[in-house]
Amino acid sequence: MRTVKLLSLLSKASVISSPFKNDPALADREDSFPSESSPLAVTEAGVNPYNLKRRLHIGPNYISILFSPPESRYDLEIDLPPESYLEFGAGLIFDKNYKKIADKFGSRPEGVEFLIWLKNKDNDRLIFQKFLKMPEEKENRTLNFGFHRLELPSRGGHFHLIFETENGNGAFAFWTSPIIVPQKKEPDRVILISLDTLRADHLSCFGYHRTTSPAIDLLASEGALFLEAVSTSSWTLPAHVSLLFSADSVHHGVMAADDRIPGSLIGLTEILNQNGFVCGAITGGGFVSPKYGFARGFDFYNESEGSFDFNNSAELVFKATRSWLENNLDKDFFLFLHTYQIHSPYNSPEPYRRTFLSPGASFDQINVERYLGGKGGIFRPLSVNERKNIIDLYDGEIRYTDEALIGPLIKWLKEKGLFDRMLIILASDHGEEFYEHGAWVHGAHLYQESIHIPLIIKFPRGLFKGEKVDKIVRITDIAPTILEALNLKKSIPASWDGRSLLPLLRKKEKSDRSFLADSCWLSGELCGDDRNLLPLTVATNQGRKKIILNRSWTEELSKIYQPGPASWNSIEIYDLSRDQAEENDLSSSQPVAINQVLMTLQARYKLLRQLARFKIILSEEELEKLRALGYIH
Ligand SMILES: [Zn+2]
Repeated sequence: MRTVKLLSLLSKASVISSPFKNDPALADREDSFPSESSPLAVTEAGVNPYNLKRRLHIGPNYISILFSPPESRYDLEIDLPPESYLEFGAGLIFDKNYKKIADKFGSRPEGVEFLIWLKNKDNDRLIFQKFLKMPEEKENRTLNFGFHRLELPSRGGHFHLIFETENGNGAFAFWTSPIIVPQKKEPDRVILISLDTLRADHLSCFGYHRTTSPAIDLLASEGALFLEAVSTSSWTLPAHVSLLFSADSVHHGVMAADDRIPGSLIGLTEILNQNGFVCGAITGGGFVSPKYGFARGFDFYNESEGSFDFNNSAELVFKATRSWLENNLDKDFFLFLHTYQIHSPYNSPEPYRRTFLSPGASFDQINVERYLGGKGGIFRPLSVNERKNIIDLYDGEIRYTDEALIGPLIKWLKEKGLFDRMLIILASDHGEEFYEHGAWVHGAHLYQESIHIPLIIKFPRGLFKGEKVDKIVRITDIAPTILEALNLKKSIPASWDGRSLLPLLRKKEKSDRSFLADSCWLSGELCGDDRNLLPLTVATNQGRKKIILNRSWTEELSKIYQPGPASWNSIEIYDLSRDQAEENDLSSSQPVAINQVLMTLQARYKLLRQLARFKIILSEEELEKLRALGYIH
């Protein structure tokens, strides 16, 4: 028996009373909710009677809630497992919206009474009663809020749980996603870590000449190491959609900075949520922000700790992770971690920034995009010394992330006796370029330095310990592998582009998988409305033969990107089995293969035309931030 998410049991029939039941039109009105100062996004997954399931935005955190303006009464019928407990939060929000509503009622209540009843055929028992005072009125929204945990009847049985809010008409009262947690000897626990911008070949366990990654190497030695994993893109947004929704861009269509994840896509998190996993995320926001749709299925989503705003985000992510884990260790859970620590600017704390620096290095931190003069400078050559300086700082970021996040996490899990029993996946969304092919940072190209990502899967109880898989696999294969490893193979959607990696580990599959990667990051229009053409750059493979197709470099692009690329050939072919560095272009000798690939790709990208695309609106502040980072113009 897994955790029961009571929100998933909510239907119209379970809403016994609610201001919205009497007047359903109110449920669609913005001023019925505290939307002005705390925008609430409707939870997209599952049935949502009267829009009561919402997502509360508190600072950088998003929390699933059940909105319960008094008088609300929800009756949820459930078979309680023995030895279980109920966990929930109860709270009140005060914001500008509230004043209008209170004025309508002509009085301002002192607070709201929160009640929970446990009922069966012979008994009717009040198990929770709490009066919450209205939070103080301040300029910004204020909250009065607390978490609670209640023991339930030890024998279990068939019950009705009734959640009630009384008095305080018009108050914004809510319950946070209530859950029933069965006492379990061995819950399923999963952590998926995405270290943004980490190229595989700069890790010691991938043969790098420097010791950048002692803790990641330890994780690799305890699990299976995938030596040839490839991403679907060379920048954050599309790659993370592929990771969490197991979709190539031809199926997710999230290819420009304002593309939103379509509601029709089924995500790993939603499936785990429906299967009773408590789902949490601690991320750096930006291109993995809930505004793109990433928080779907998550009970808790933080978009701050891994941010660019901190030069020690790896450490902040670890601290937030530890406190989230402390509250959730006894449940089946899925925790997604993400940090921009390794991403430029390379400015890790002392002494890490100096770990690999030569004496007399010109700089001990750098914002590469700014140093190059903005995004237009990504093709600008730098001196040998500058290049070395940049690489040394990047490697220092990796070492810092290894010691501030991965090392402490493994140590903490071992101390708790949990490490051996957990499923831990470590990956990245894309790599980073150091002018191997005439560009810096990432997004412009699809060479191996940009799309070859590390992938380590540590299964519970030493399964596949020490295995090394040298076949080409894809970022989209991660989600189905997680589901199969949790015995949820039947829940893998047929629509997913990835396939479980377990057949490769069991040696039942012996060939390279075929990948599809693209980027039009340089210019959103190049993957926007013109559906007849391929994106700006596309890469695929036939076994170890890698094919890259580039649209012709336009005059318009040449205006933005000064200098433009030194070389931008329309077709490139590399034999990765002998030329990992992609130095020897074989395209002139293989015309037949190219035609075939071109036709296949054009047919695949036609899928994009059938896909409904959704746009988000970026605020001026968000646009400014993306500009400062060199992402847009
Ligand atoms: Zn990224």
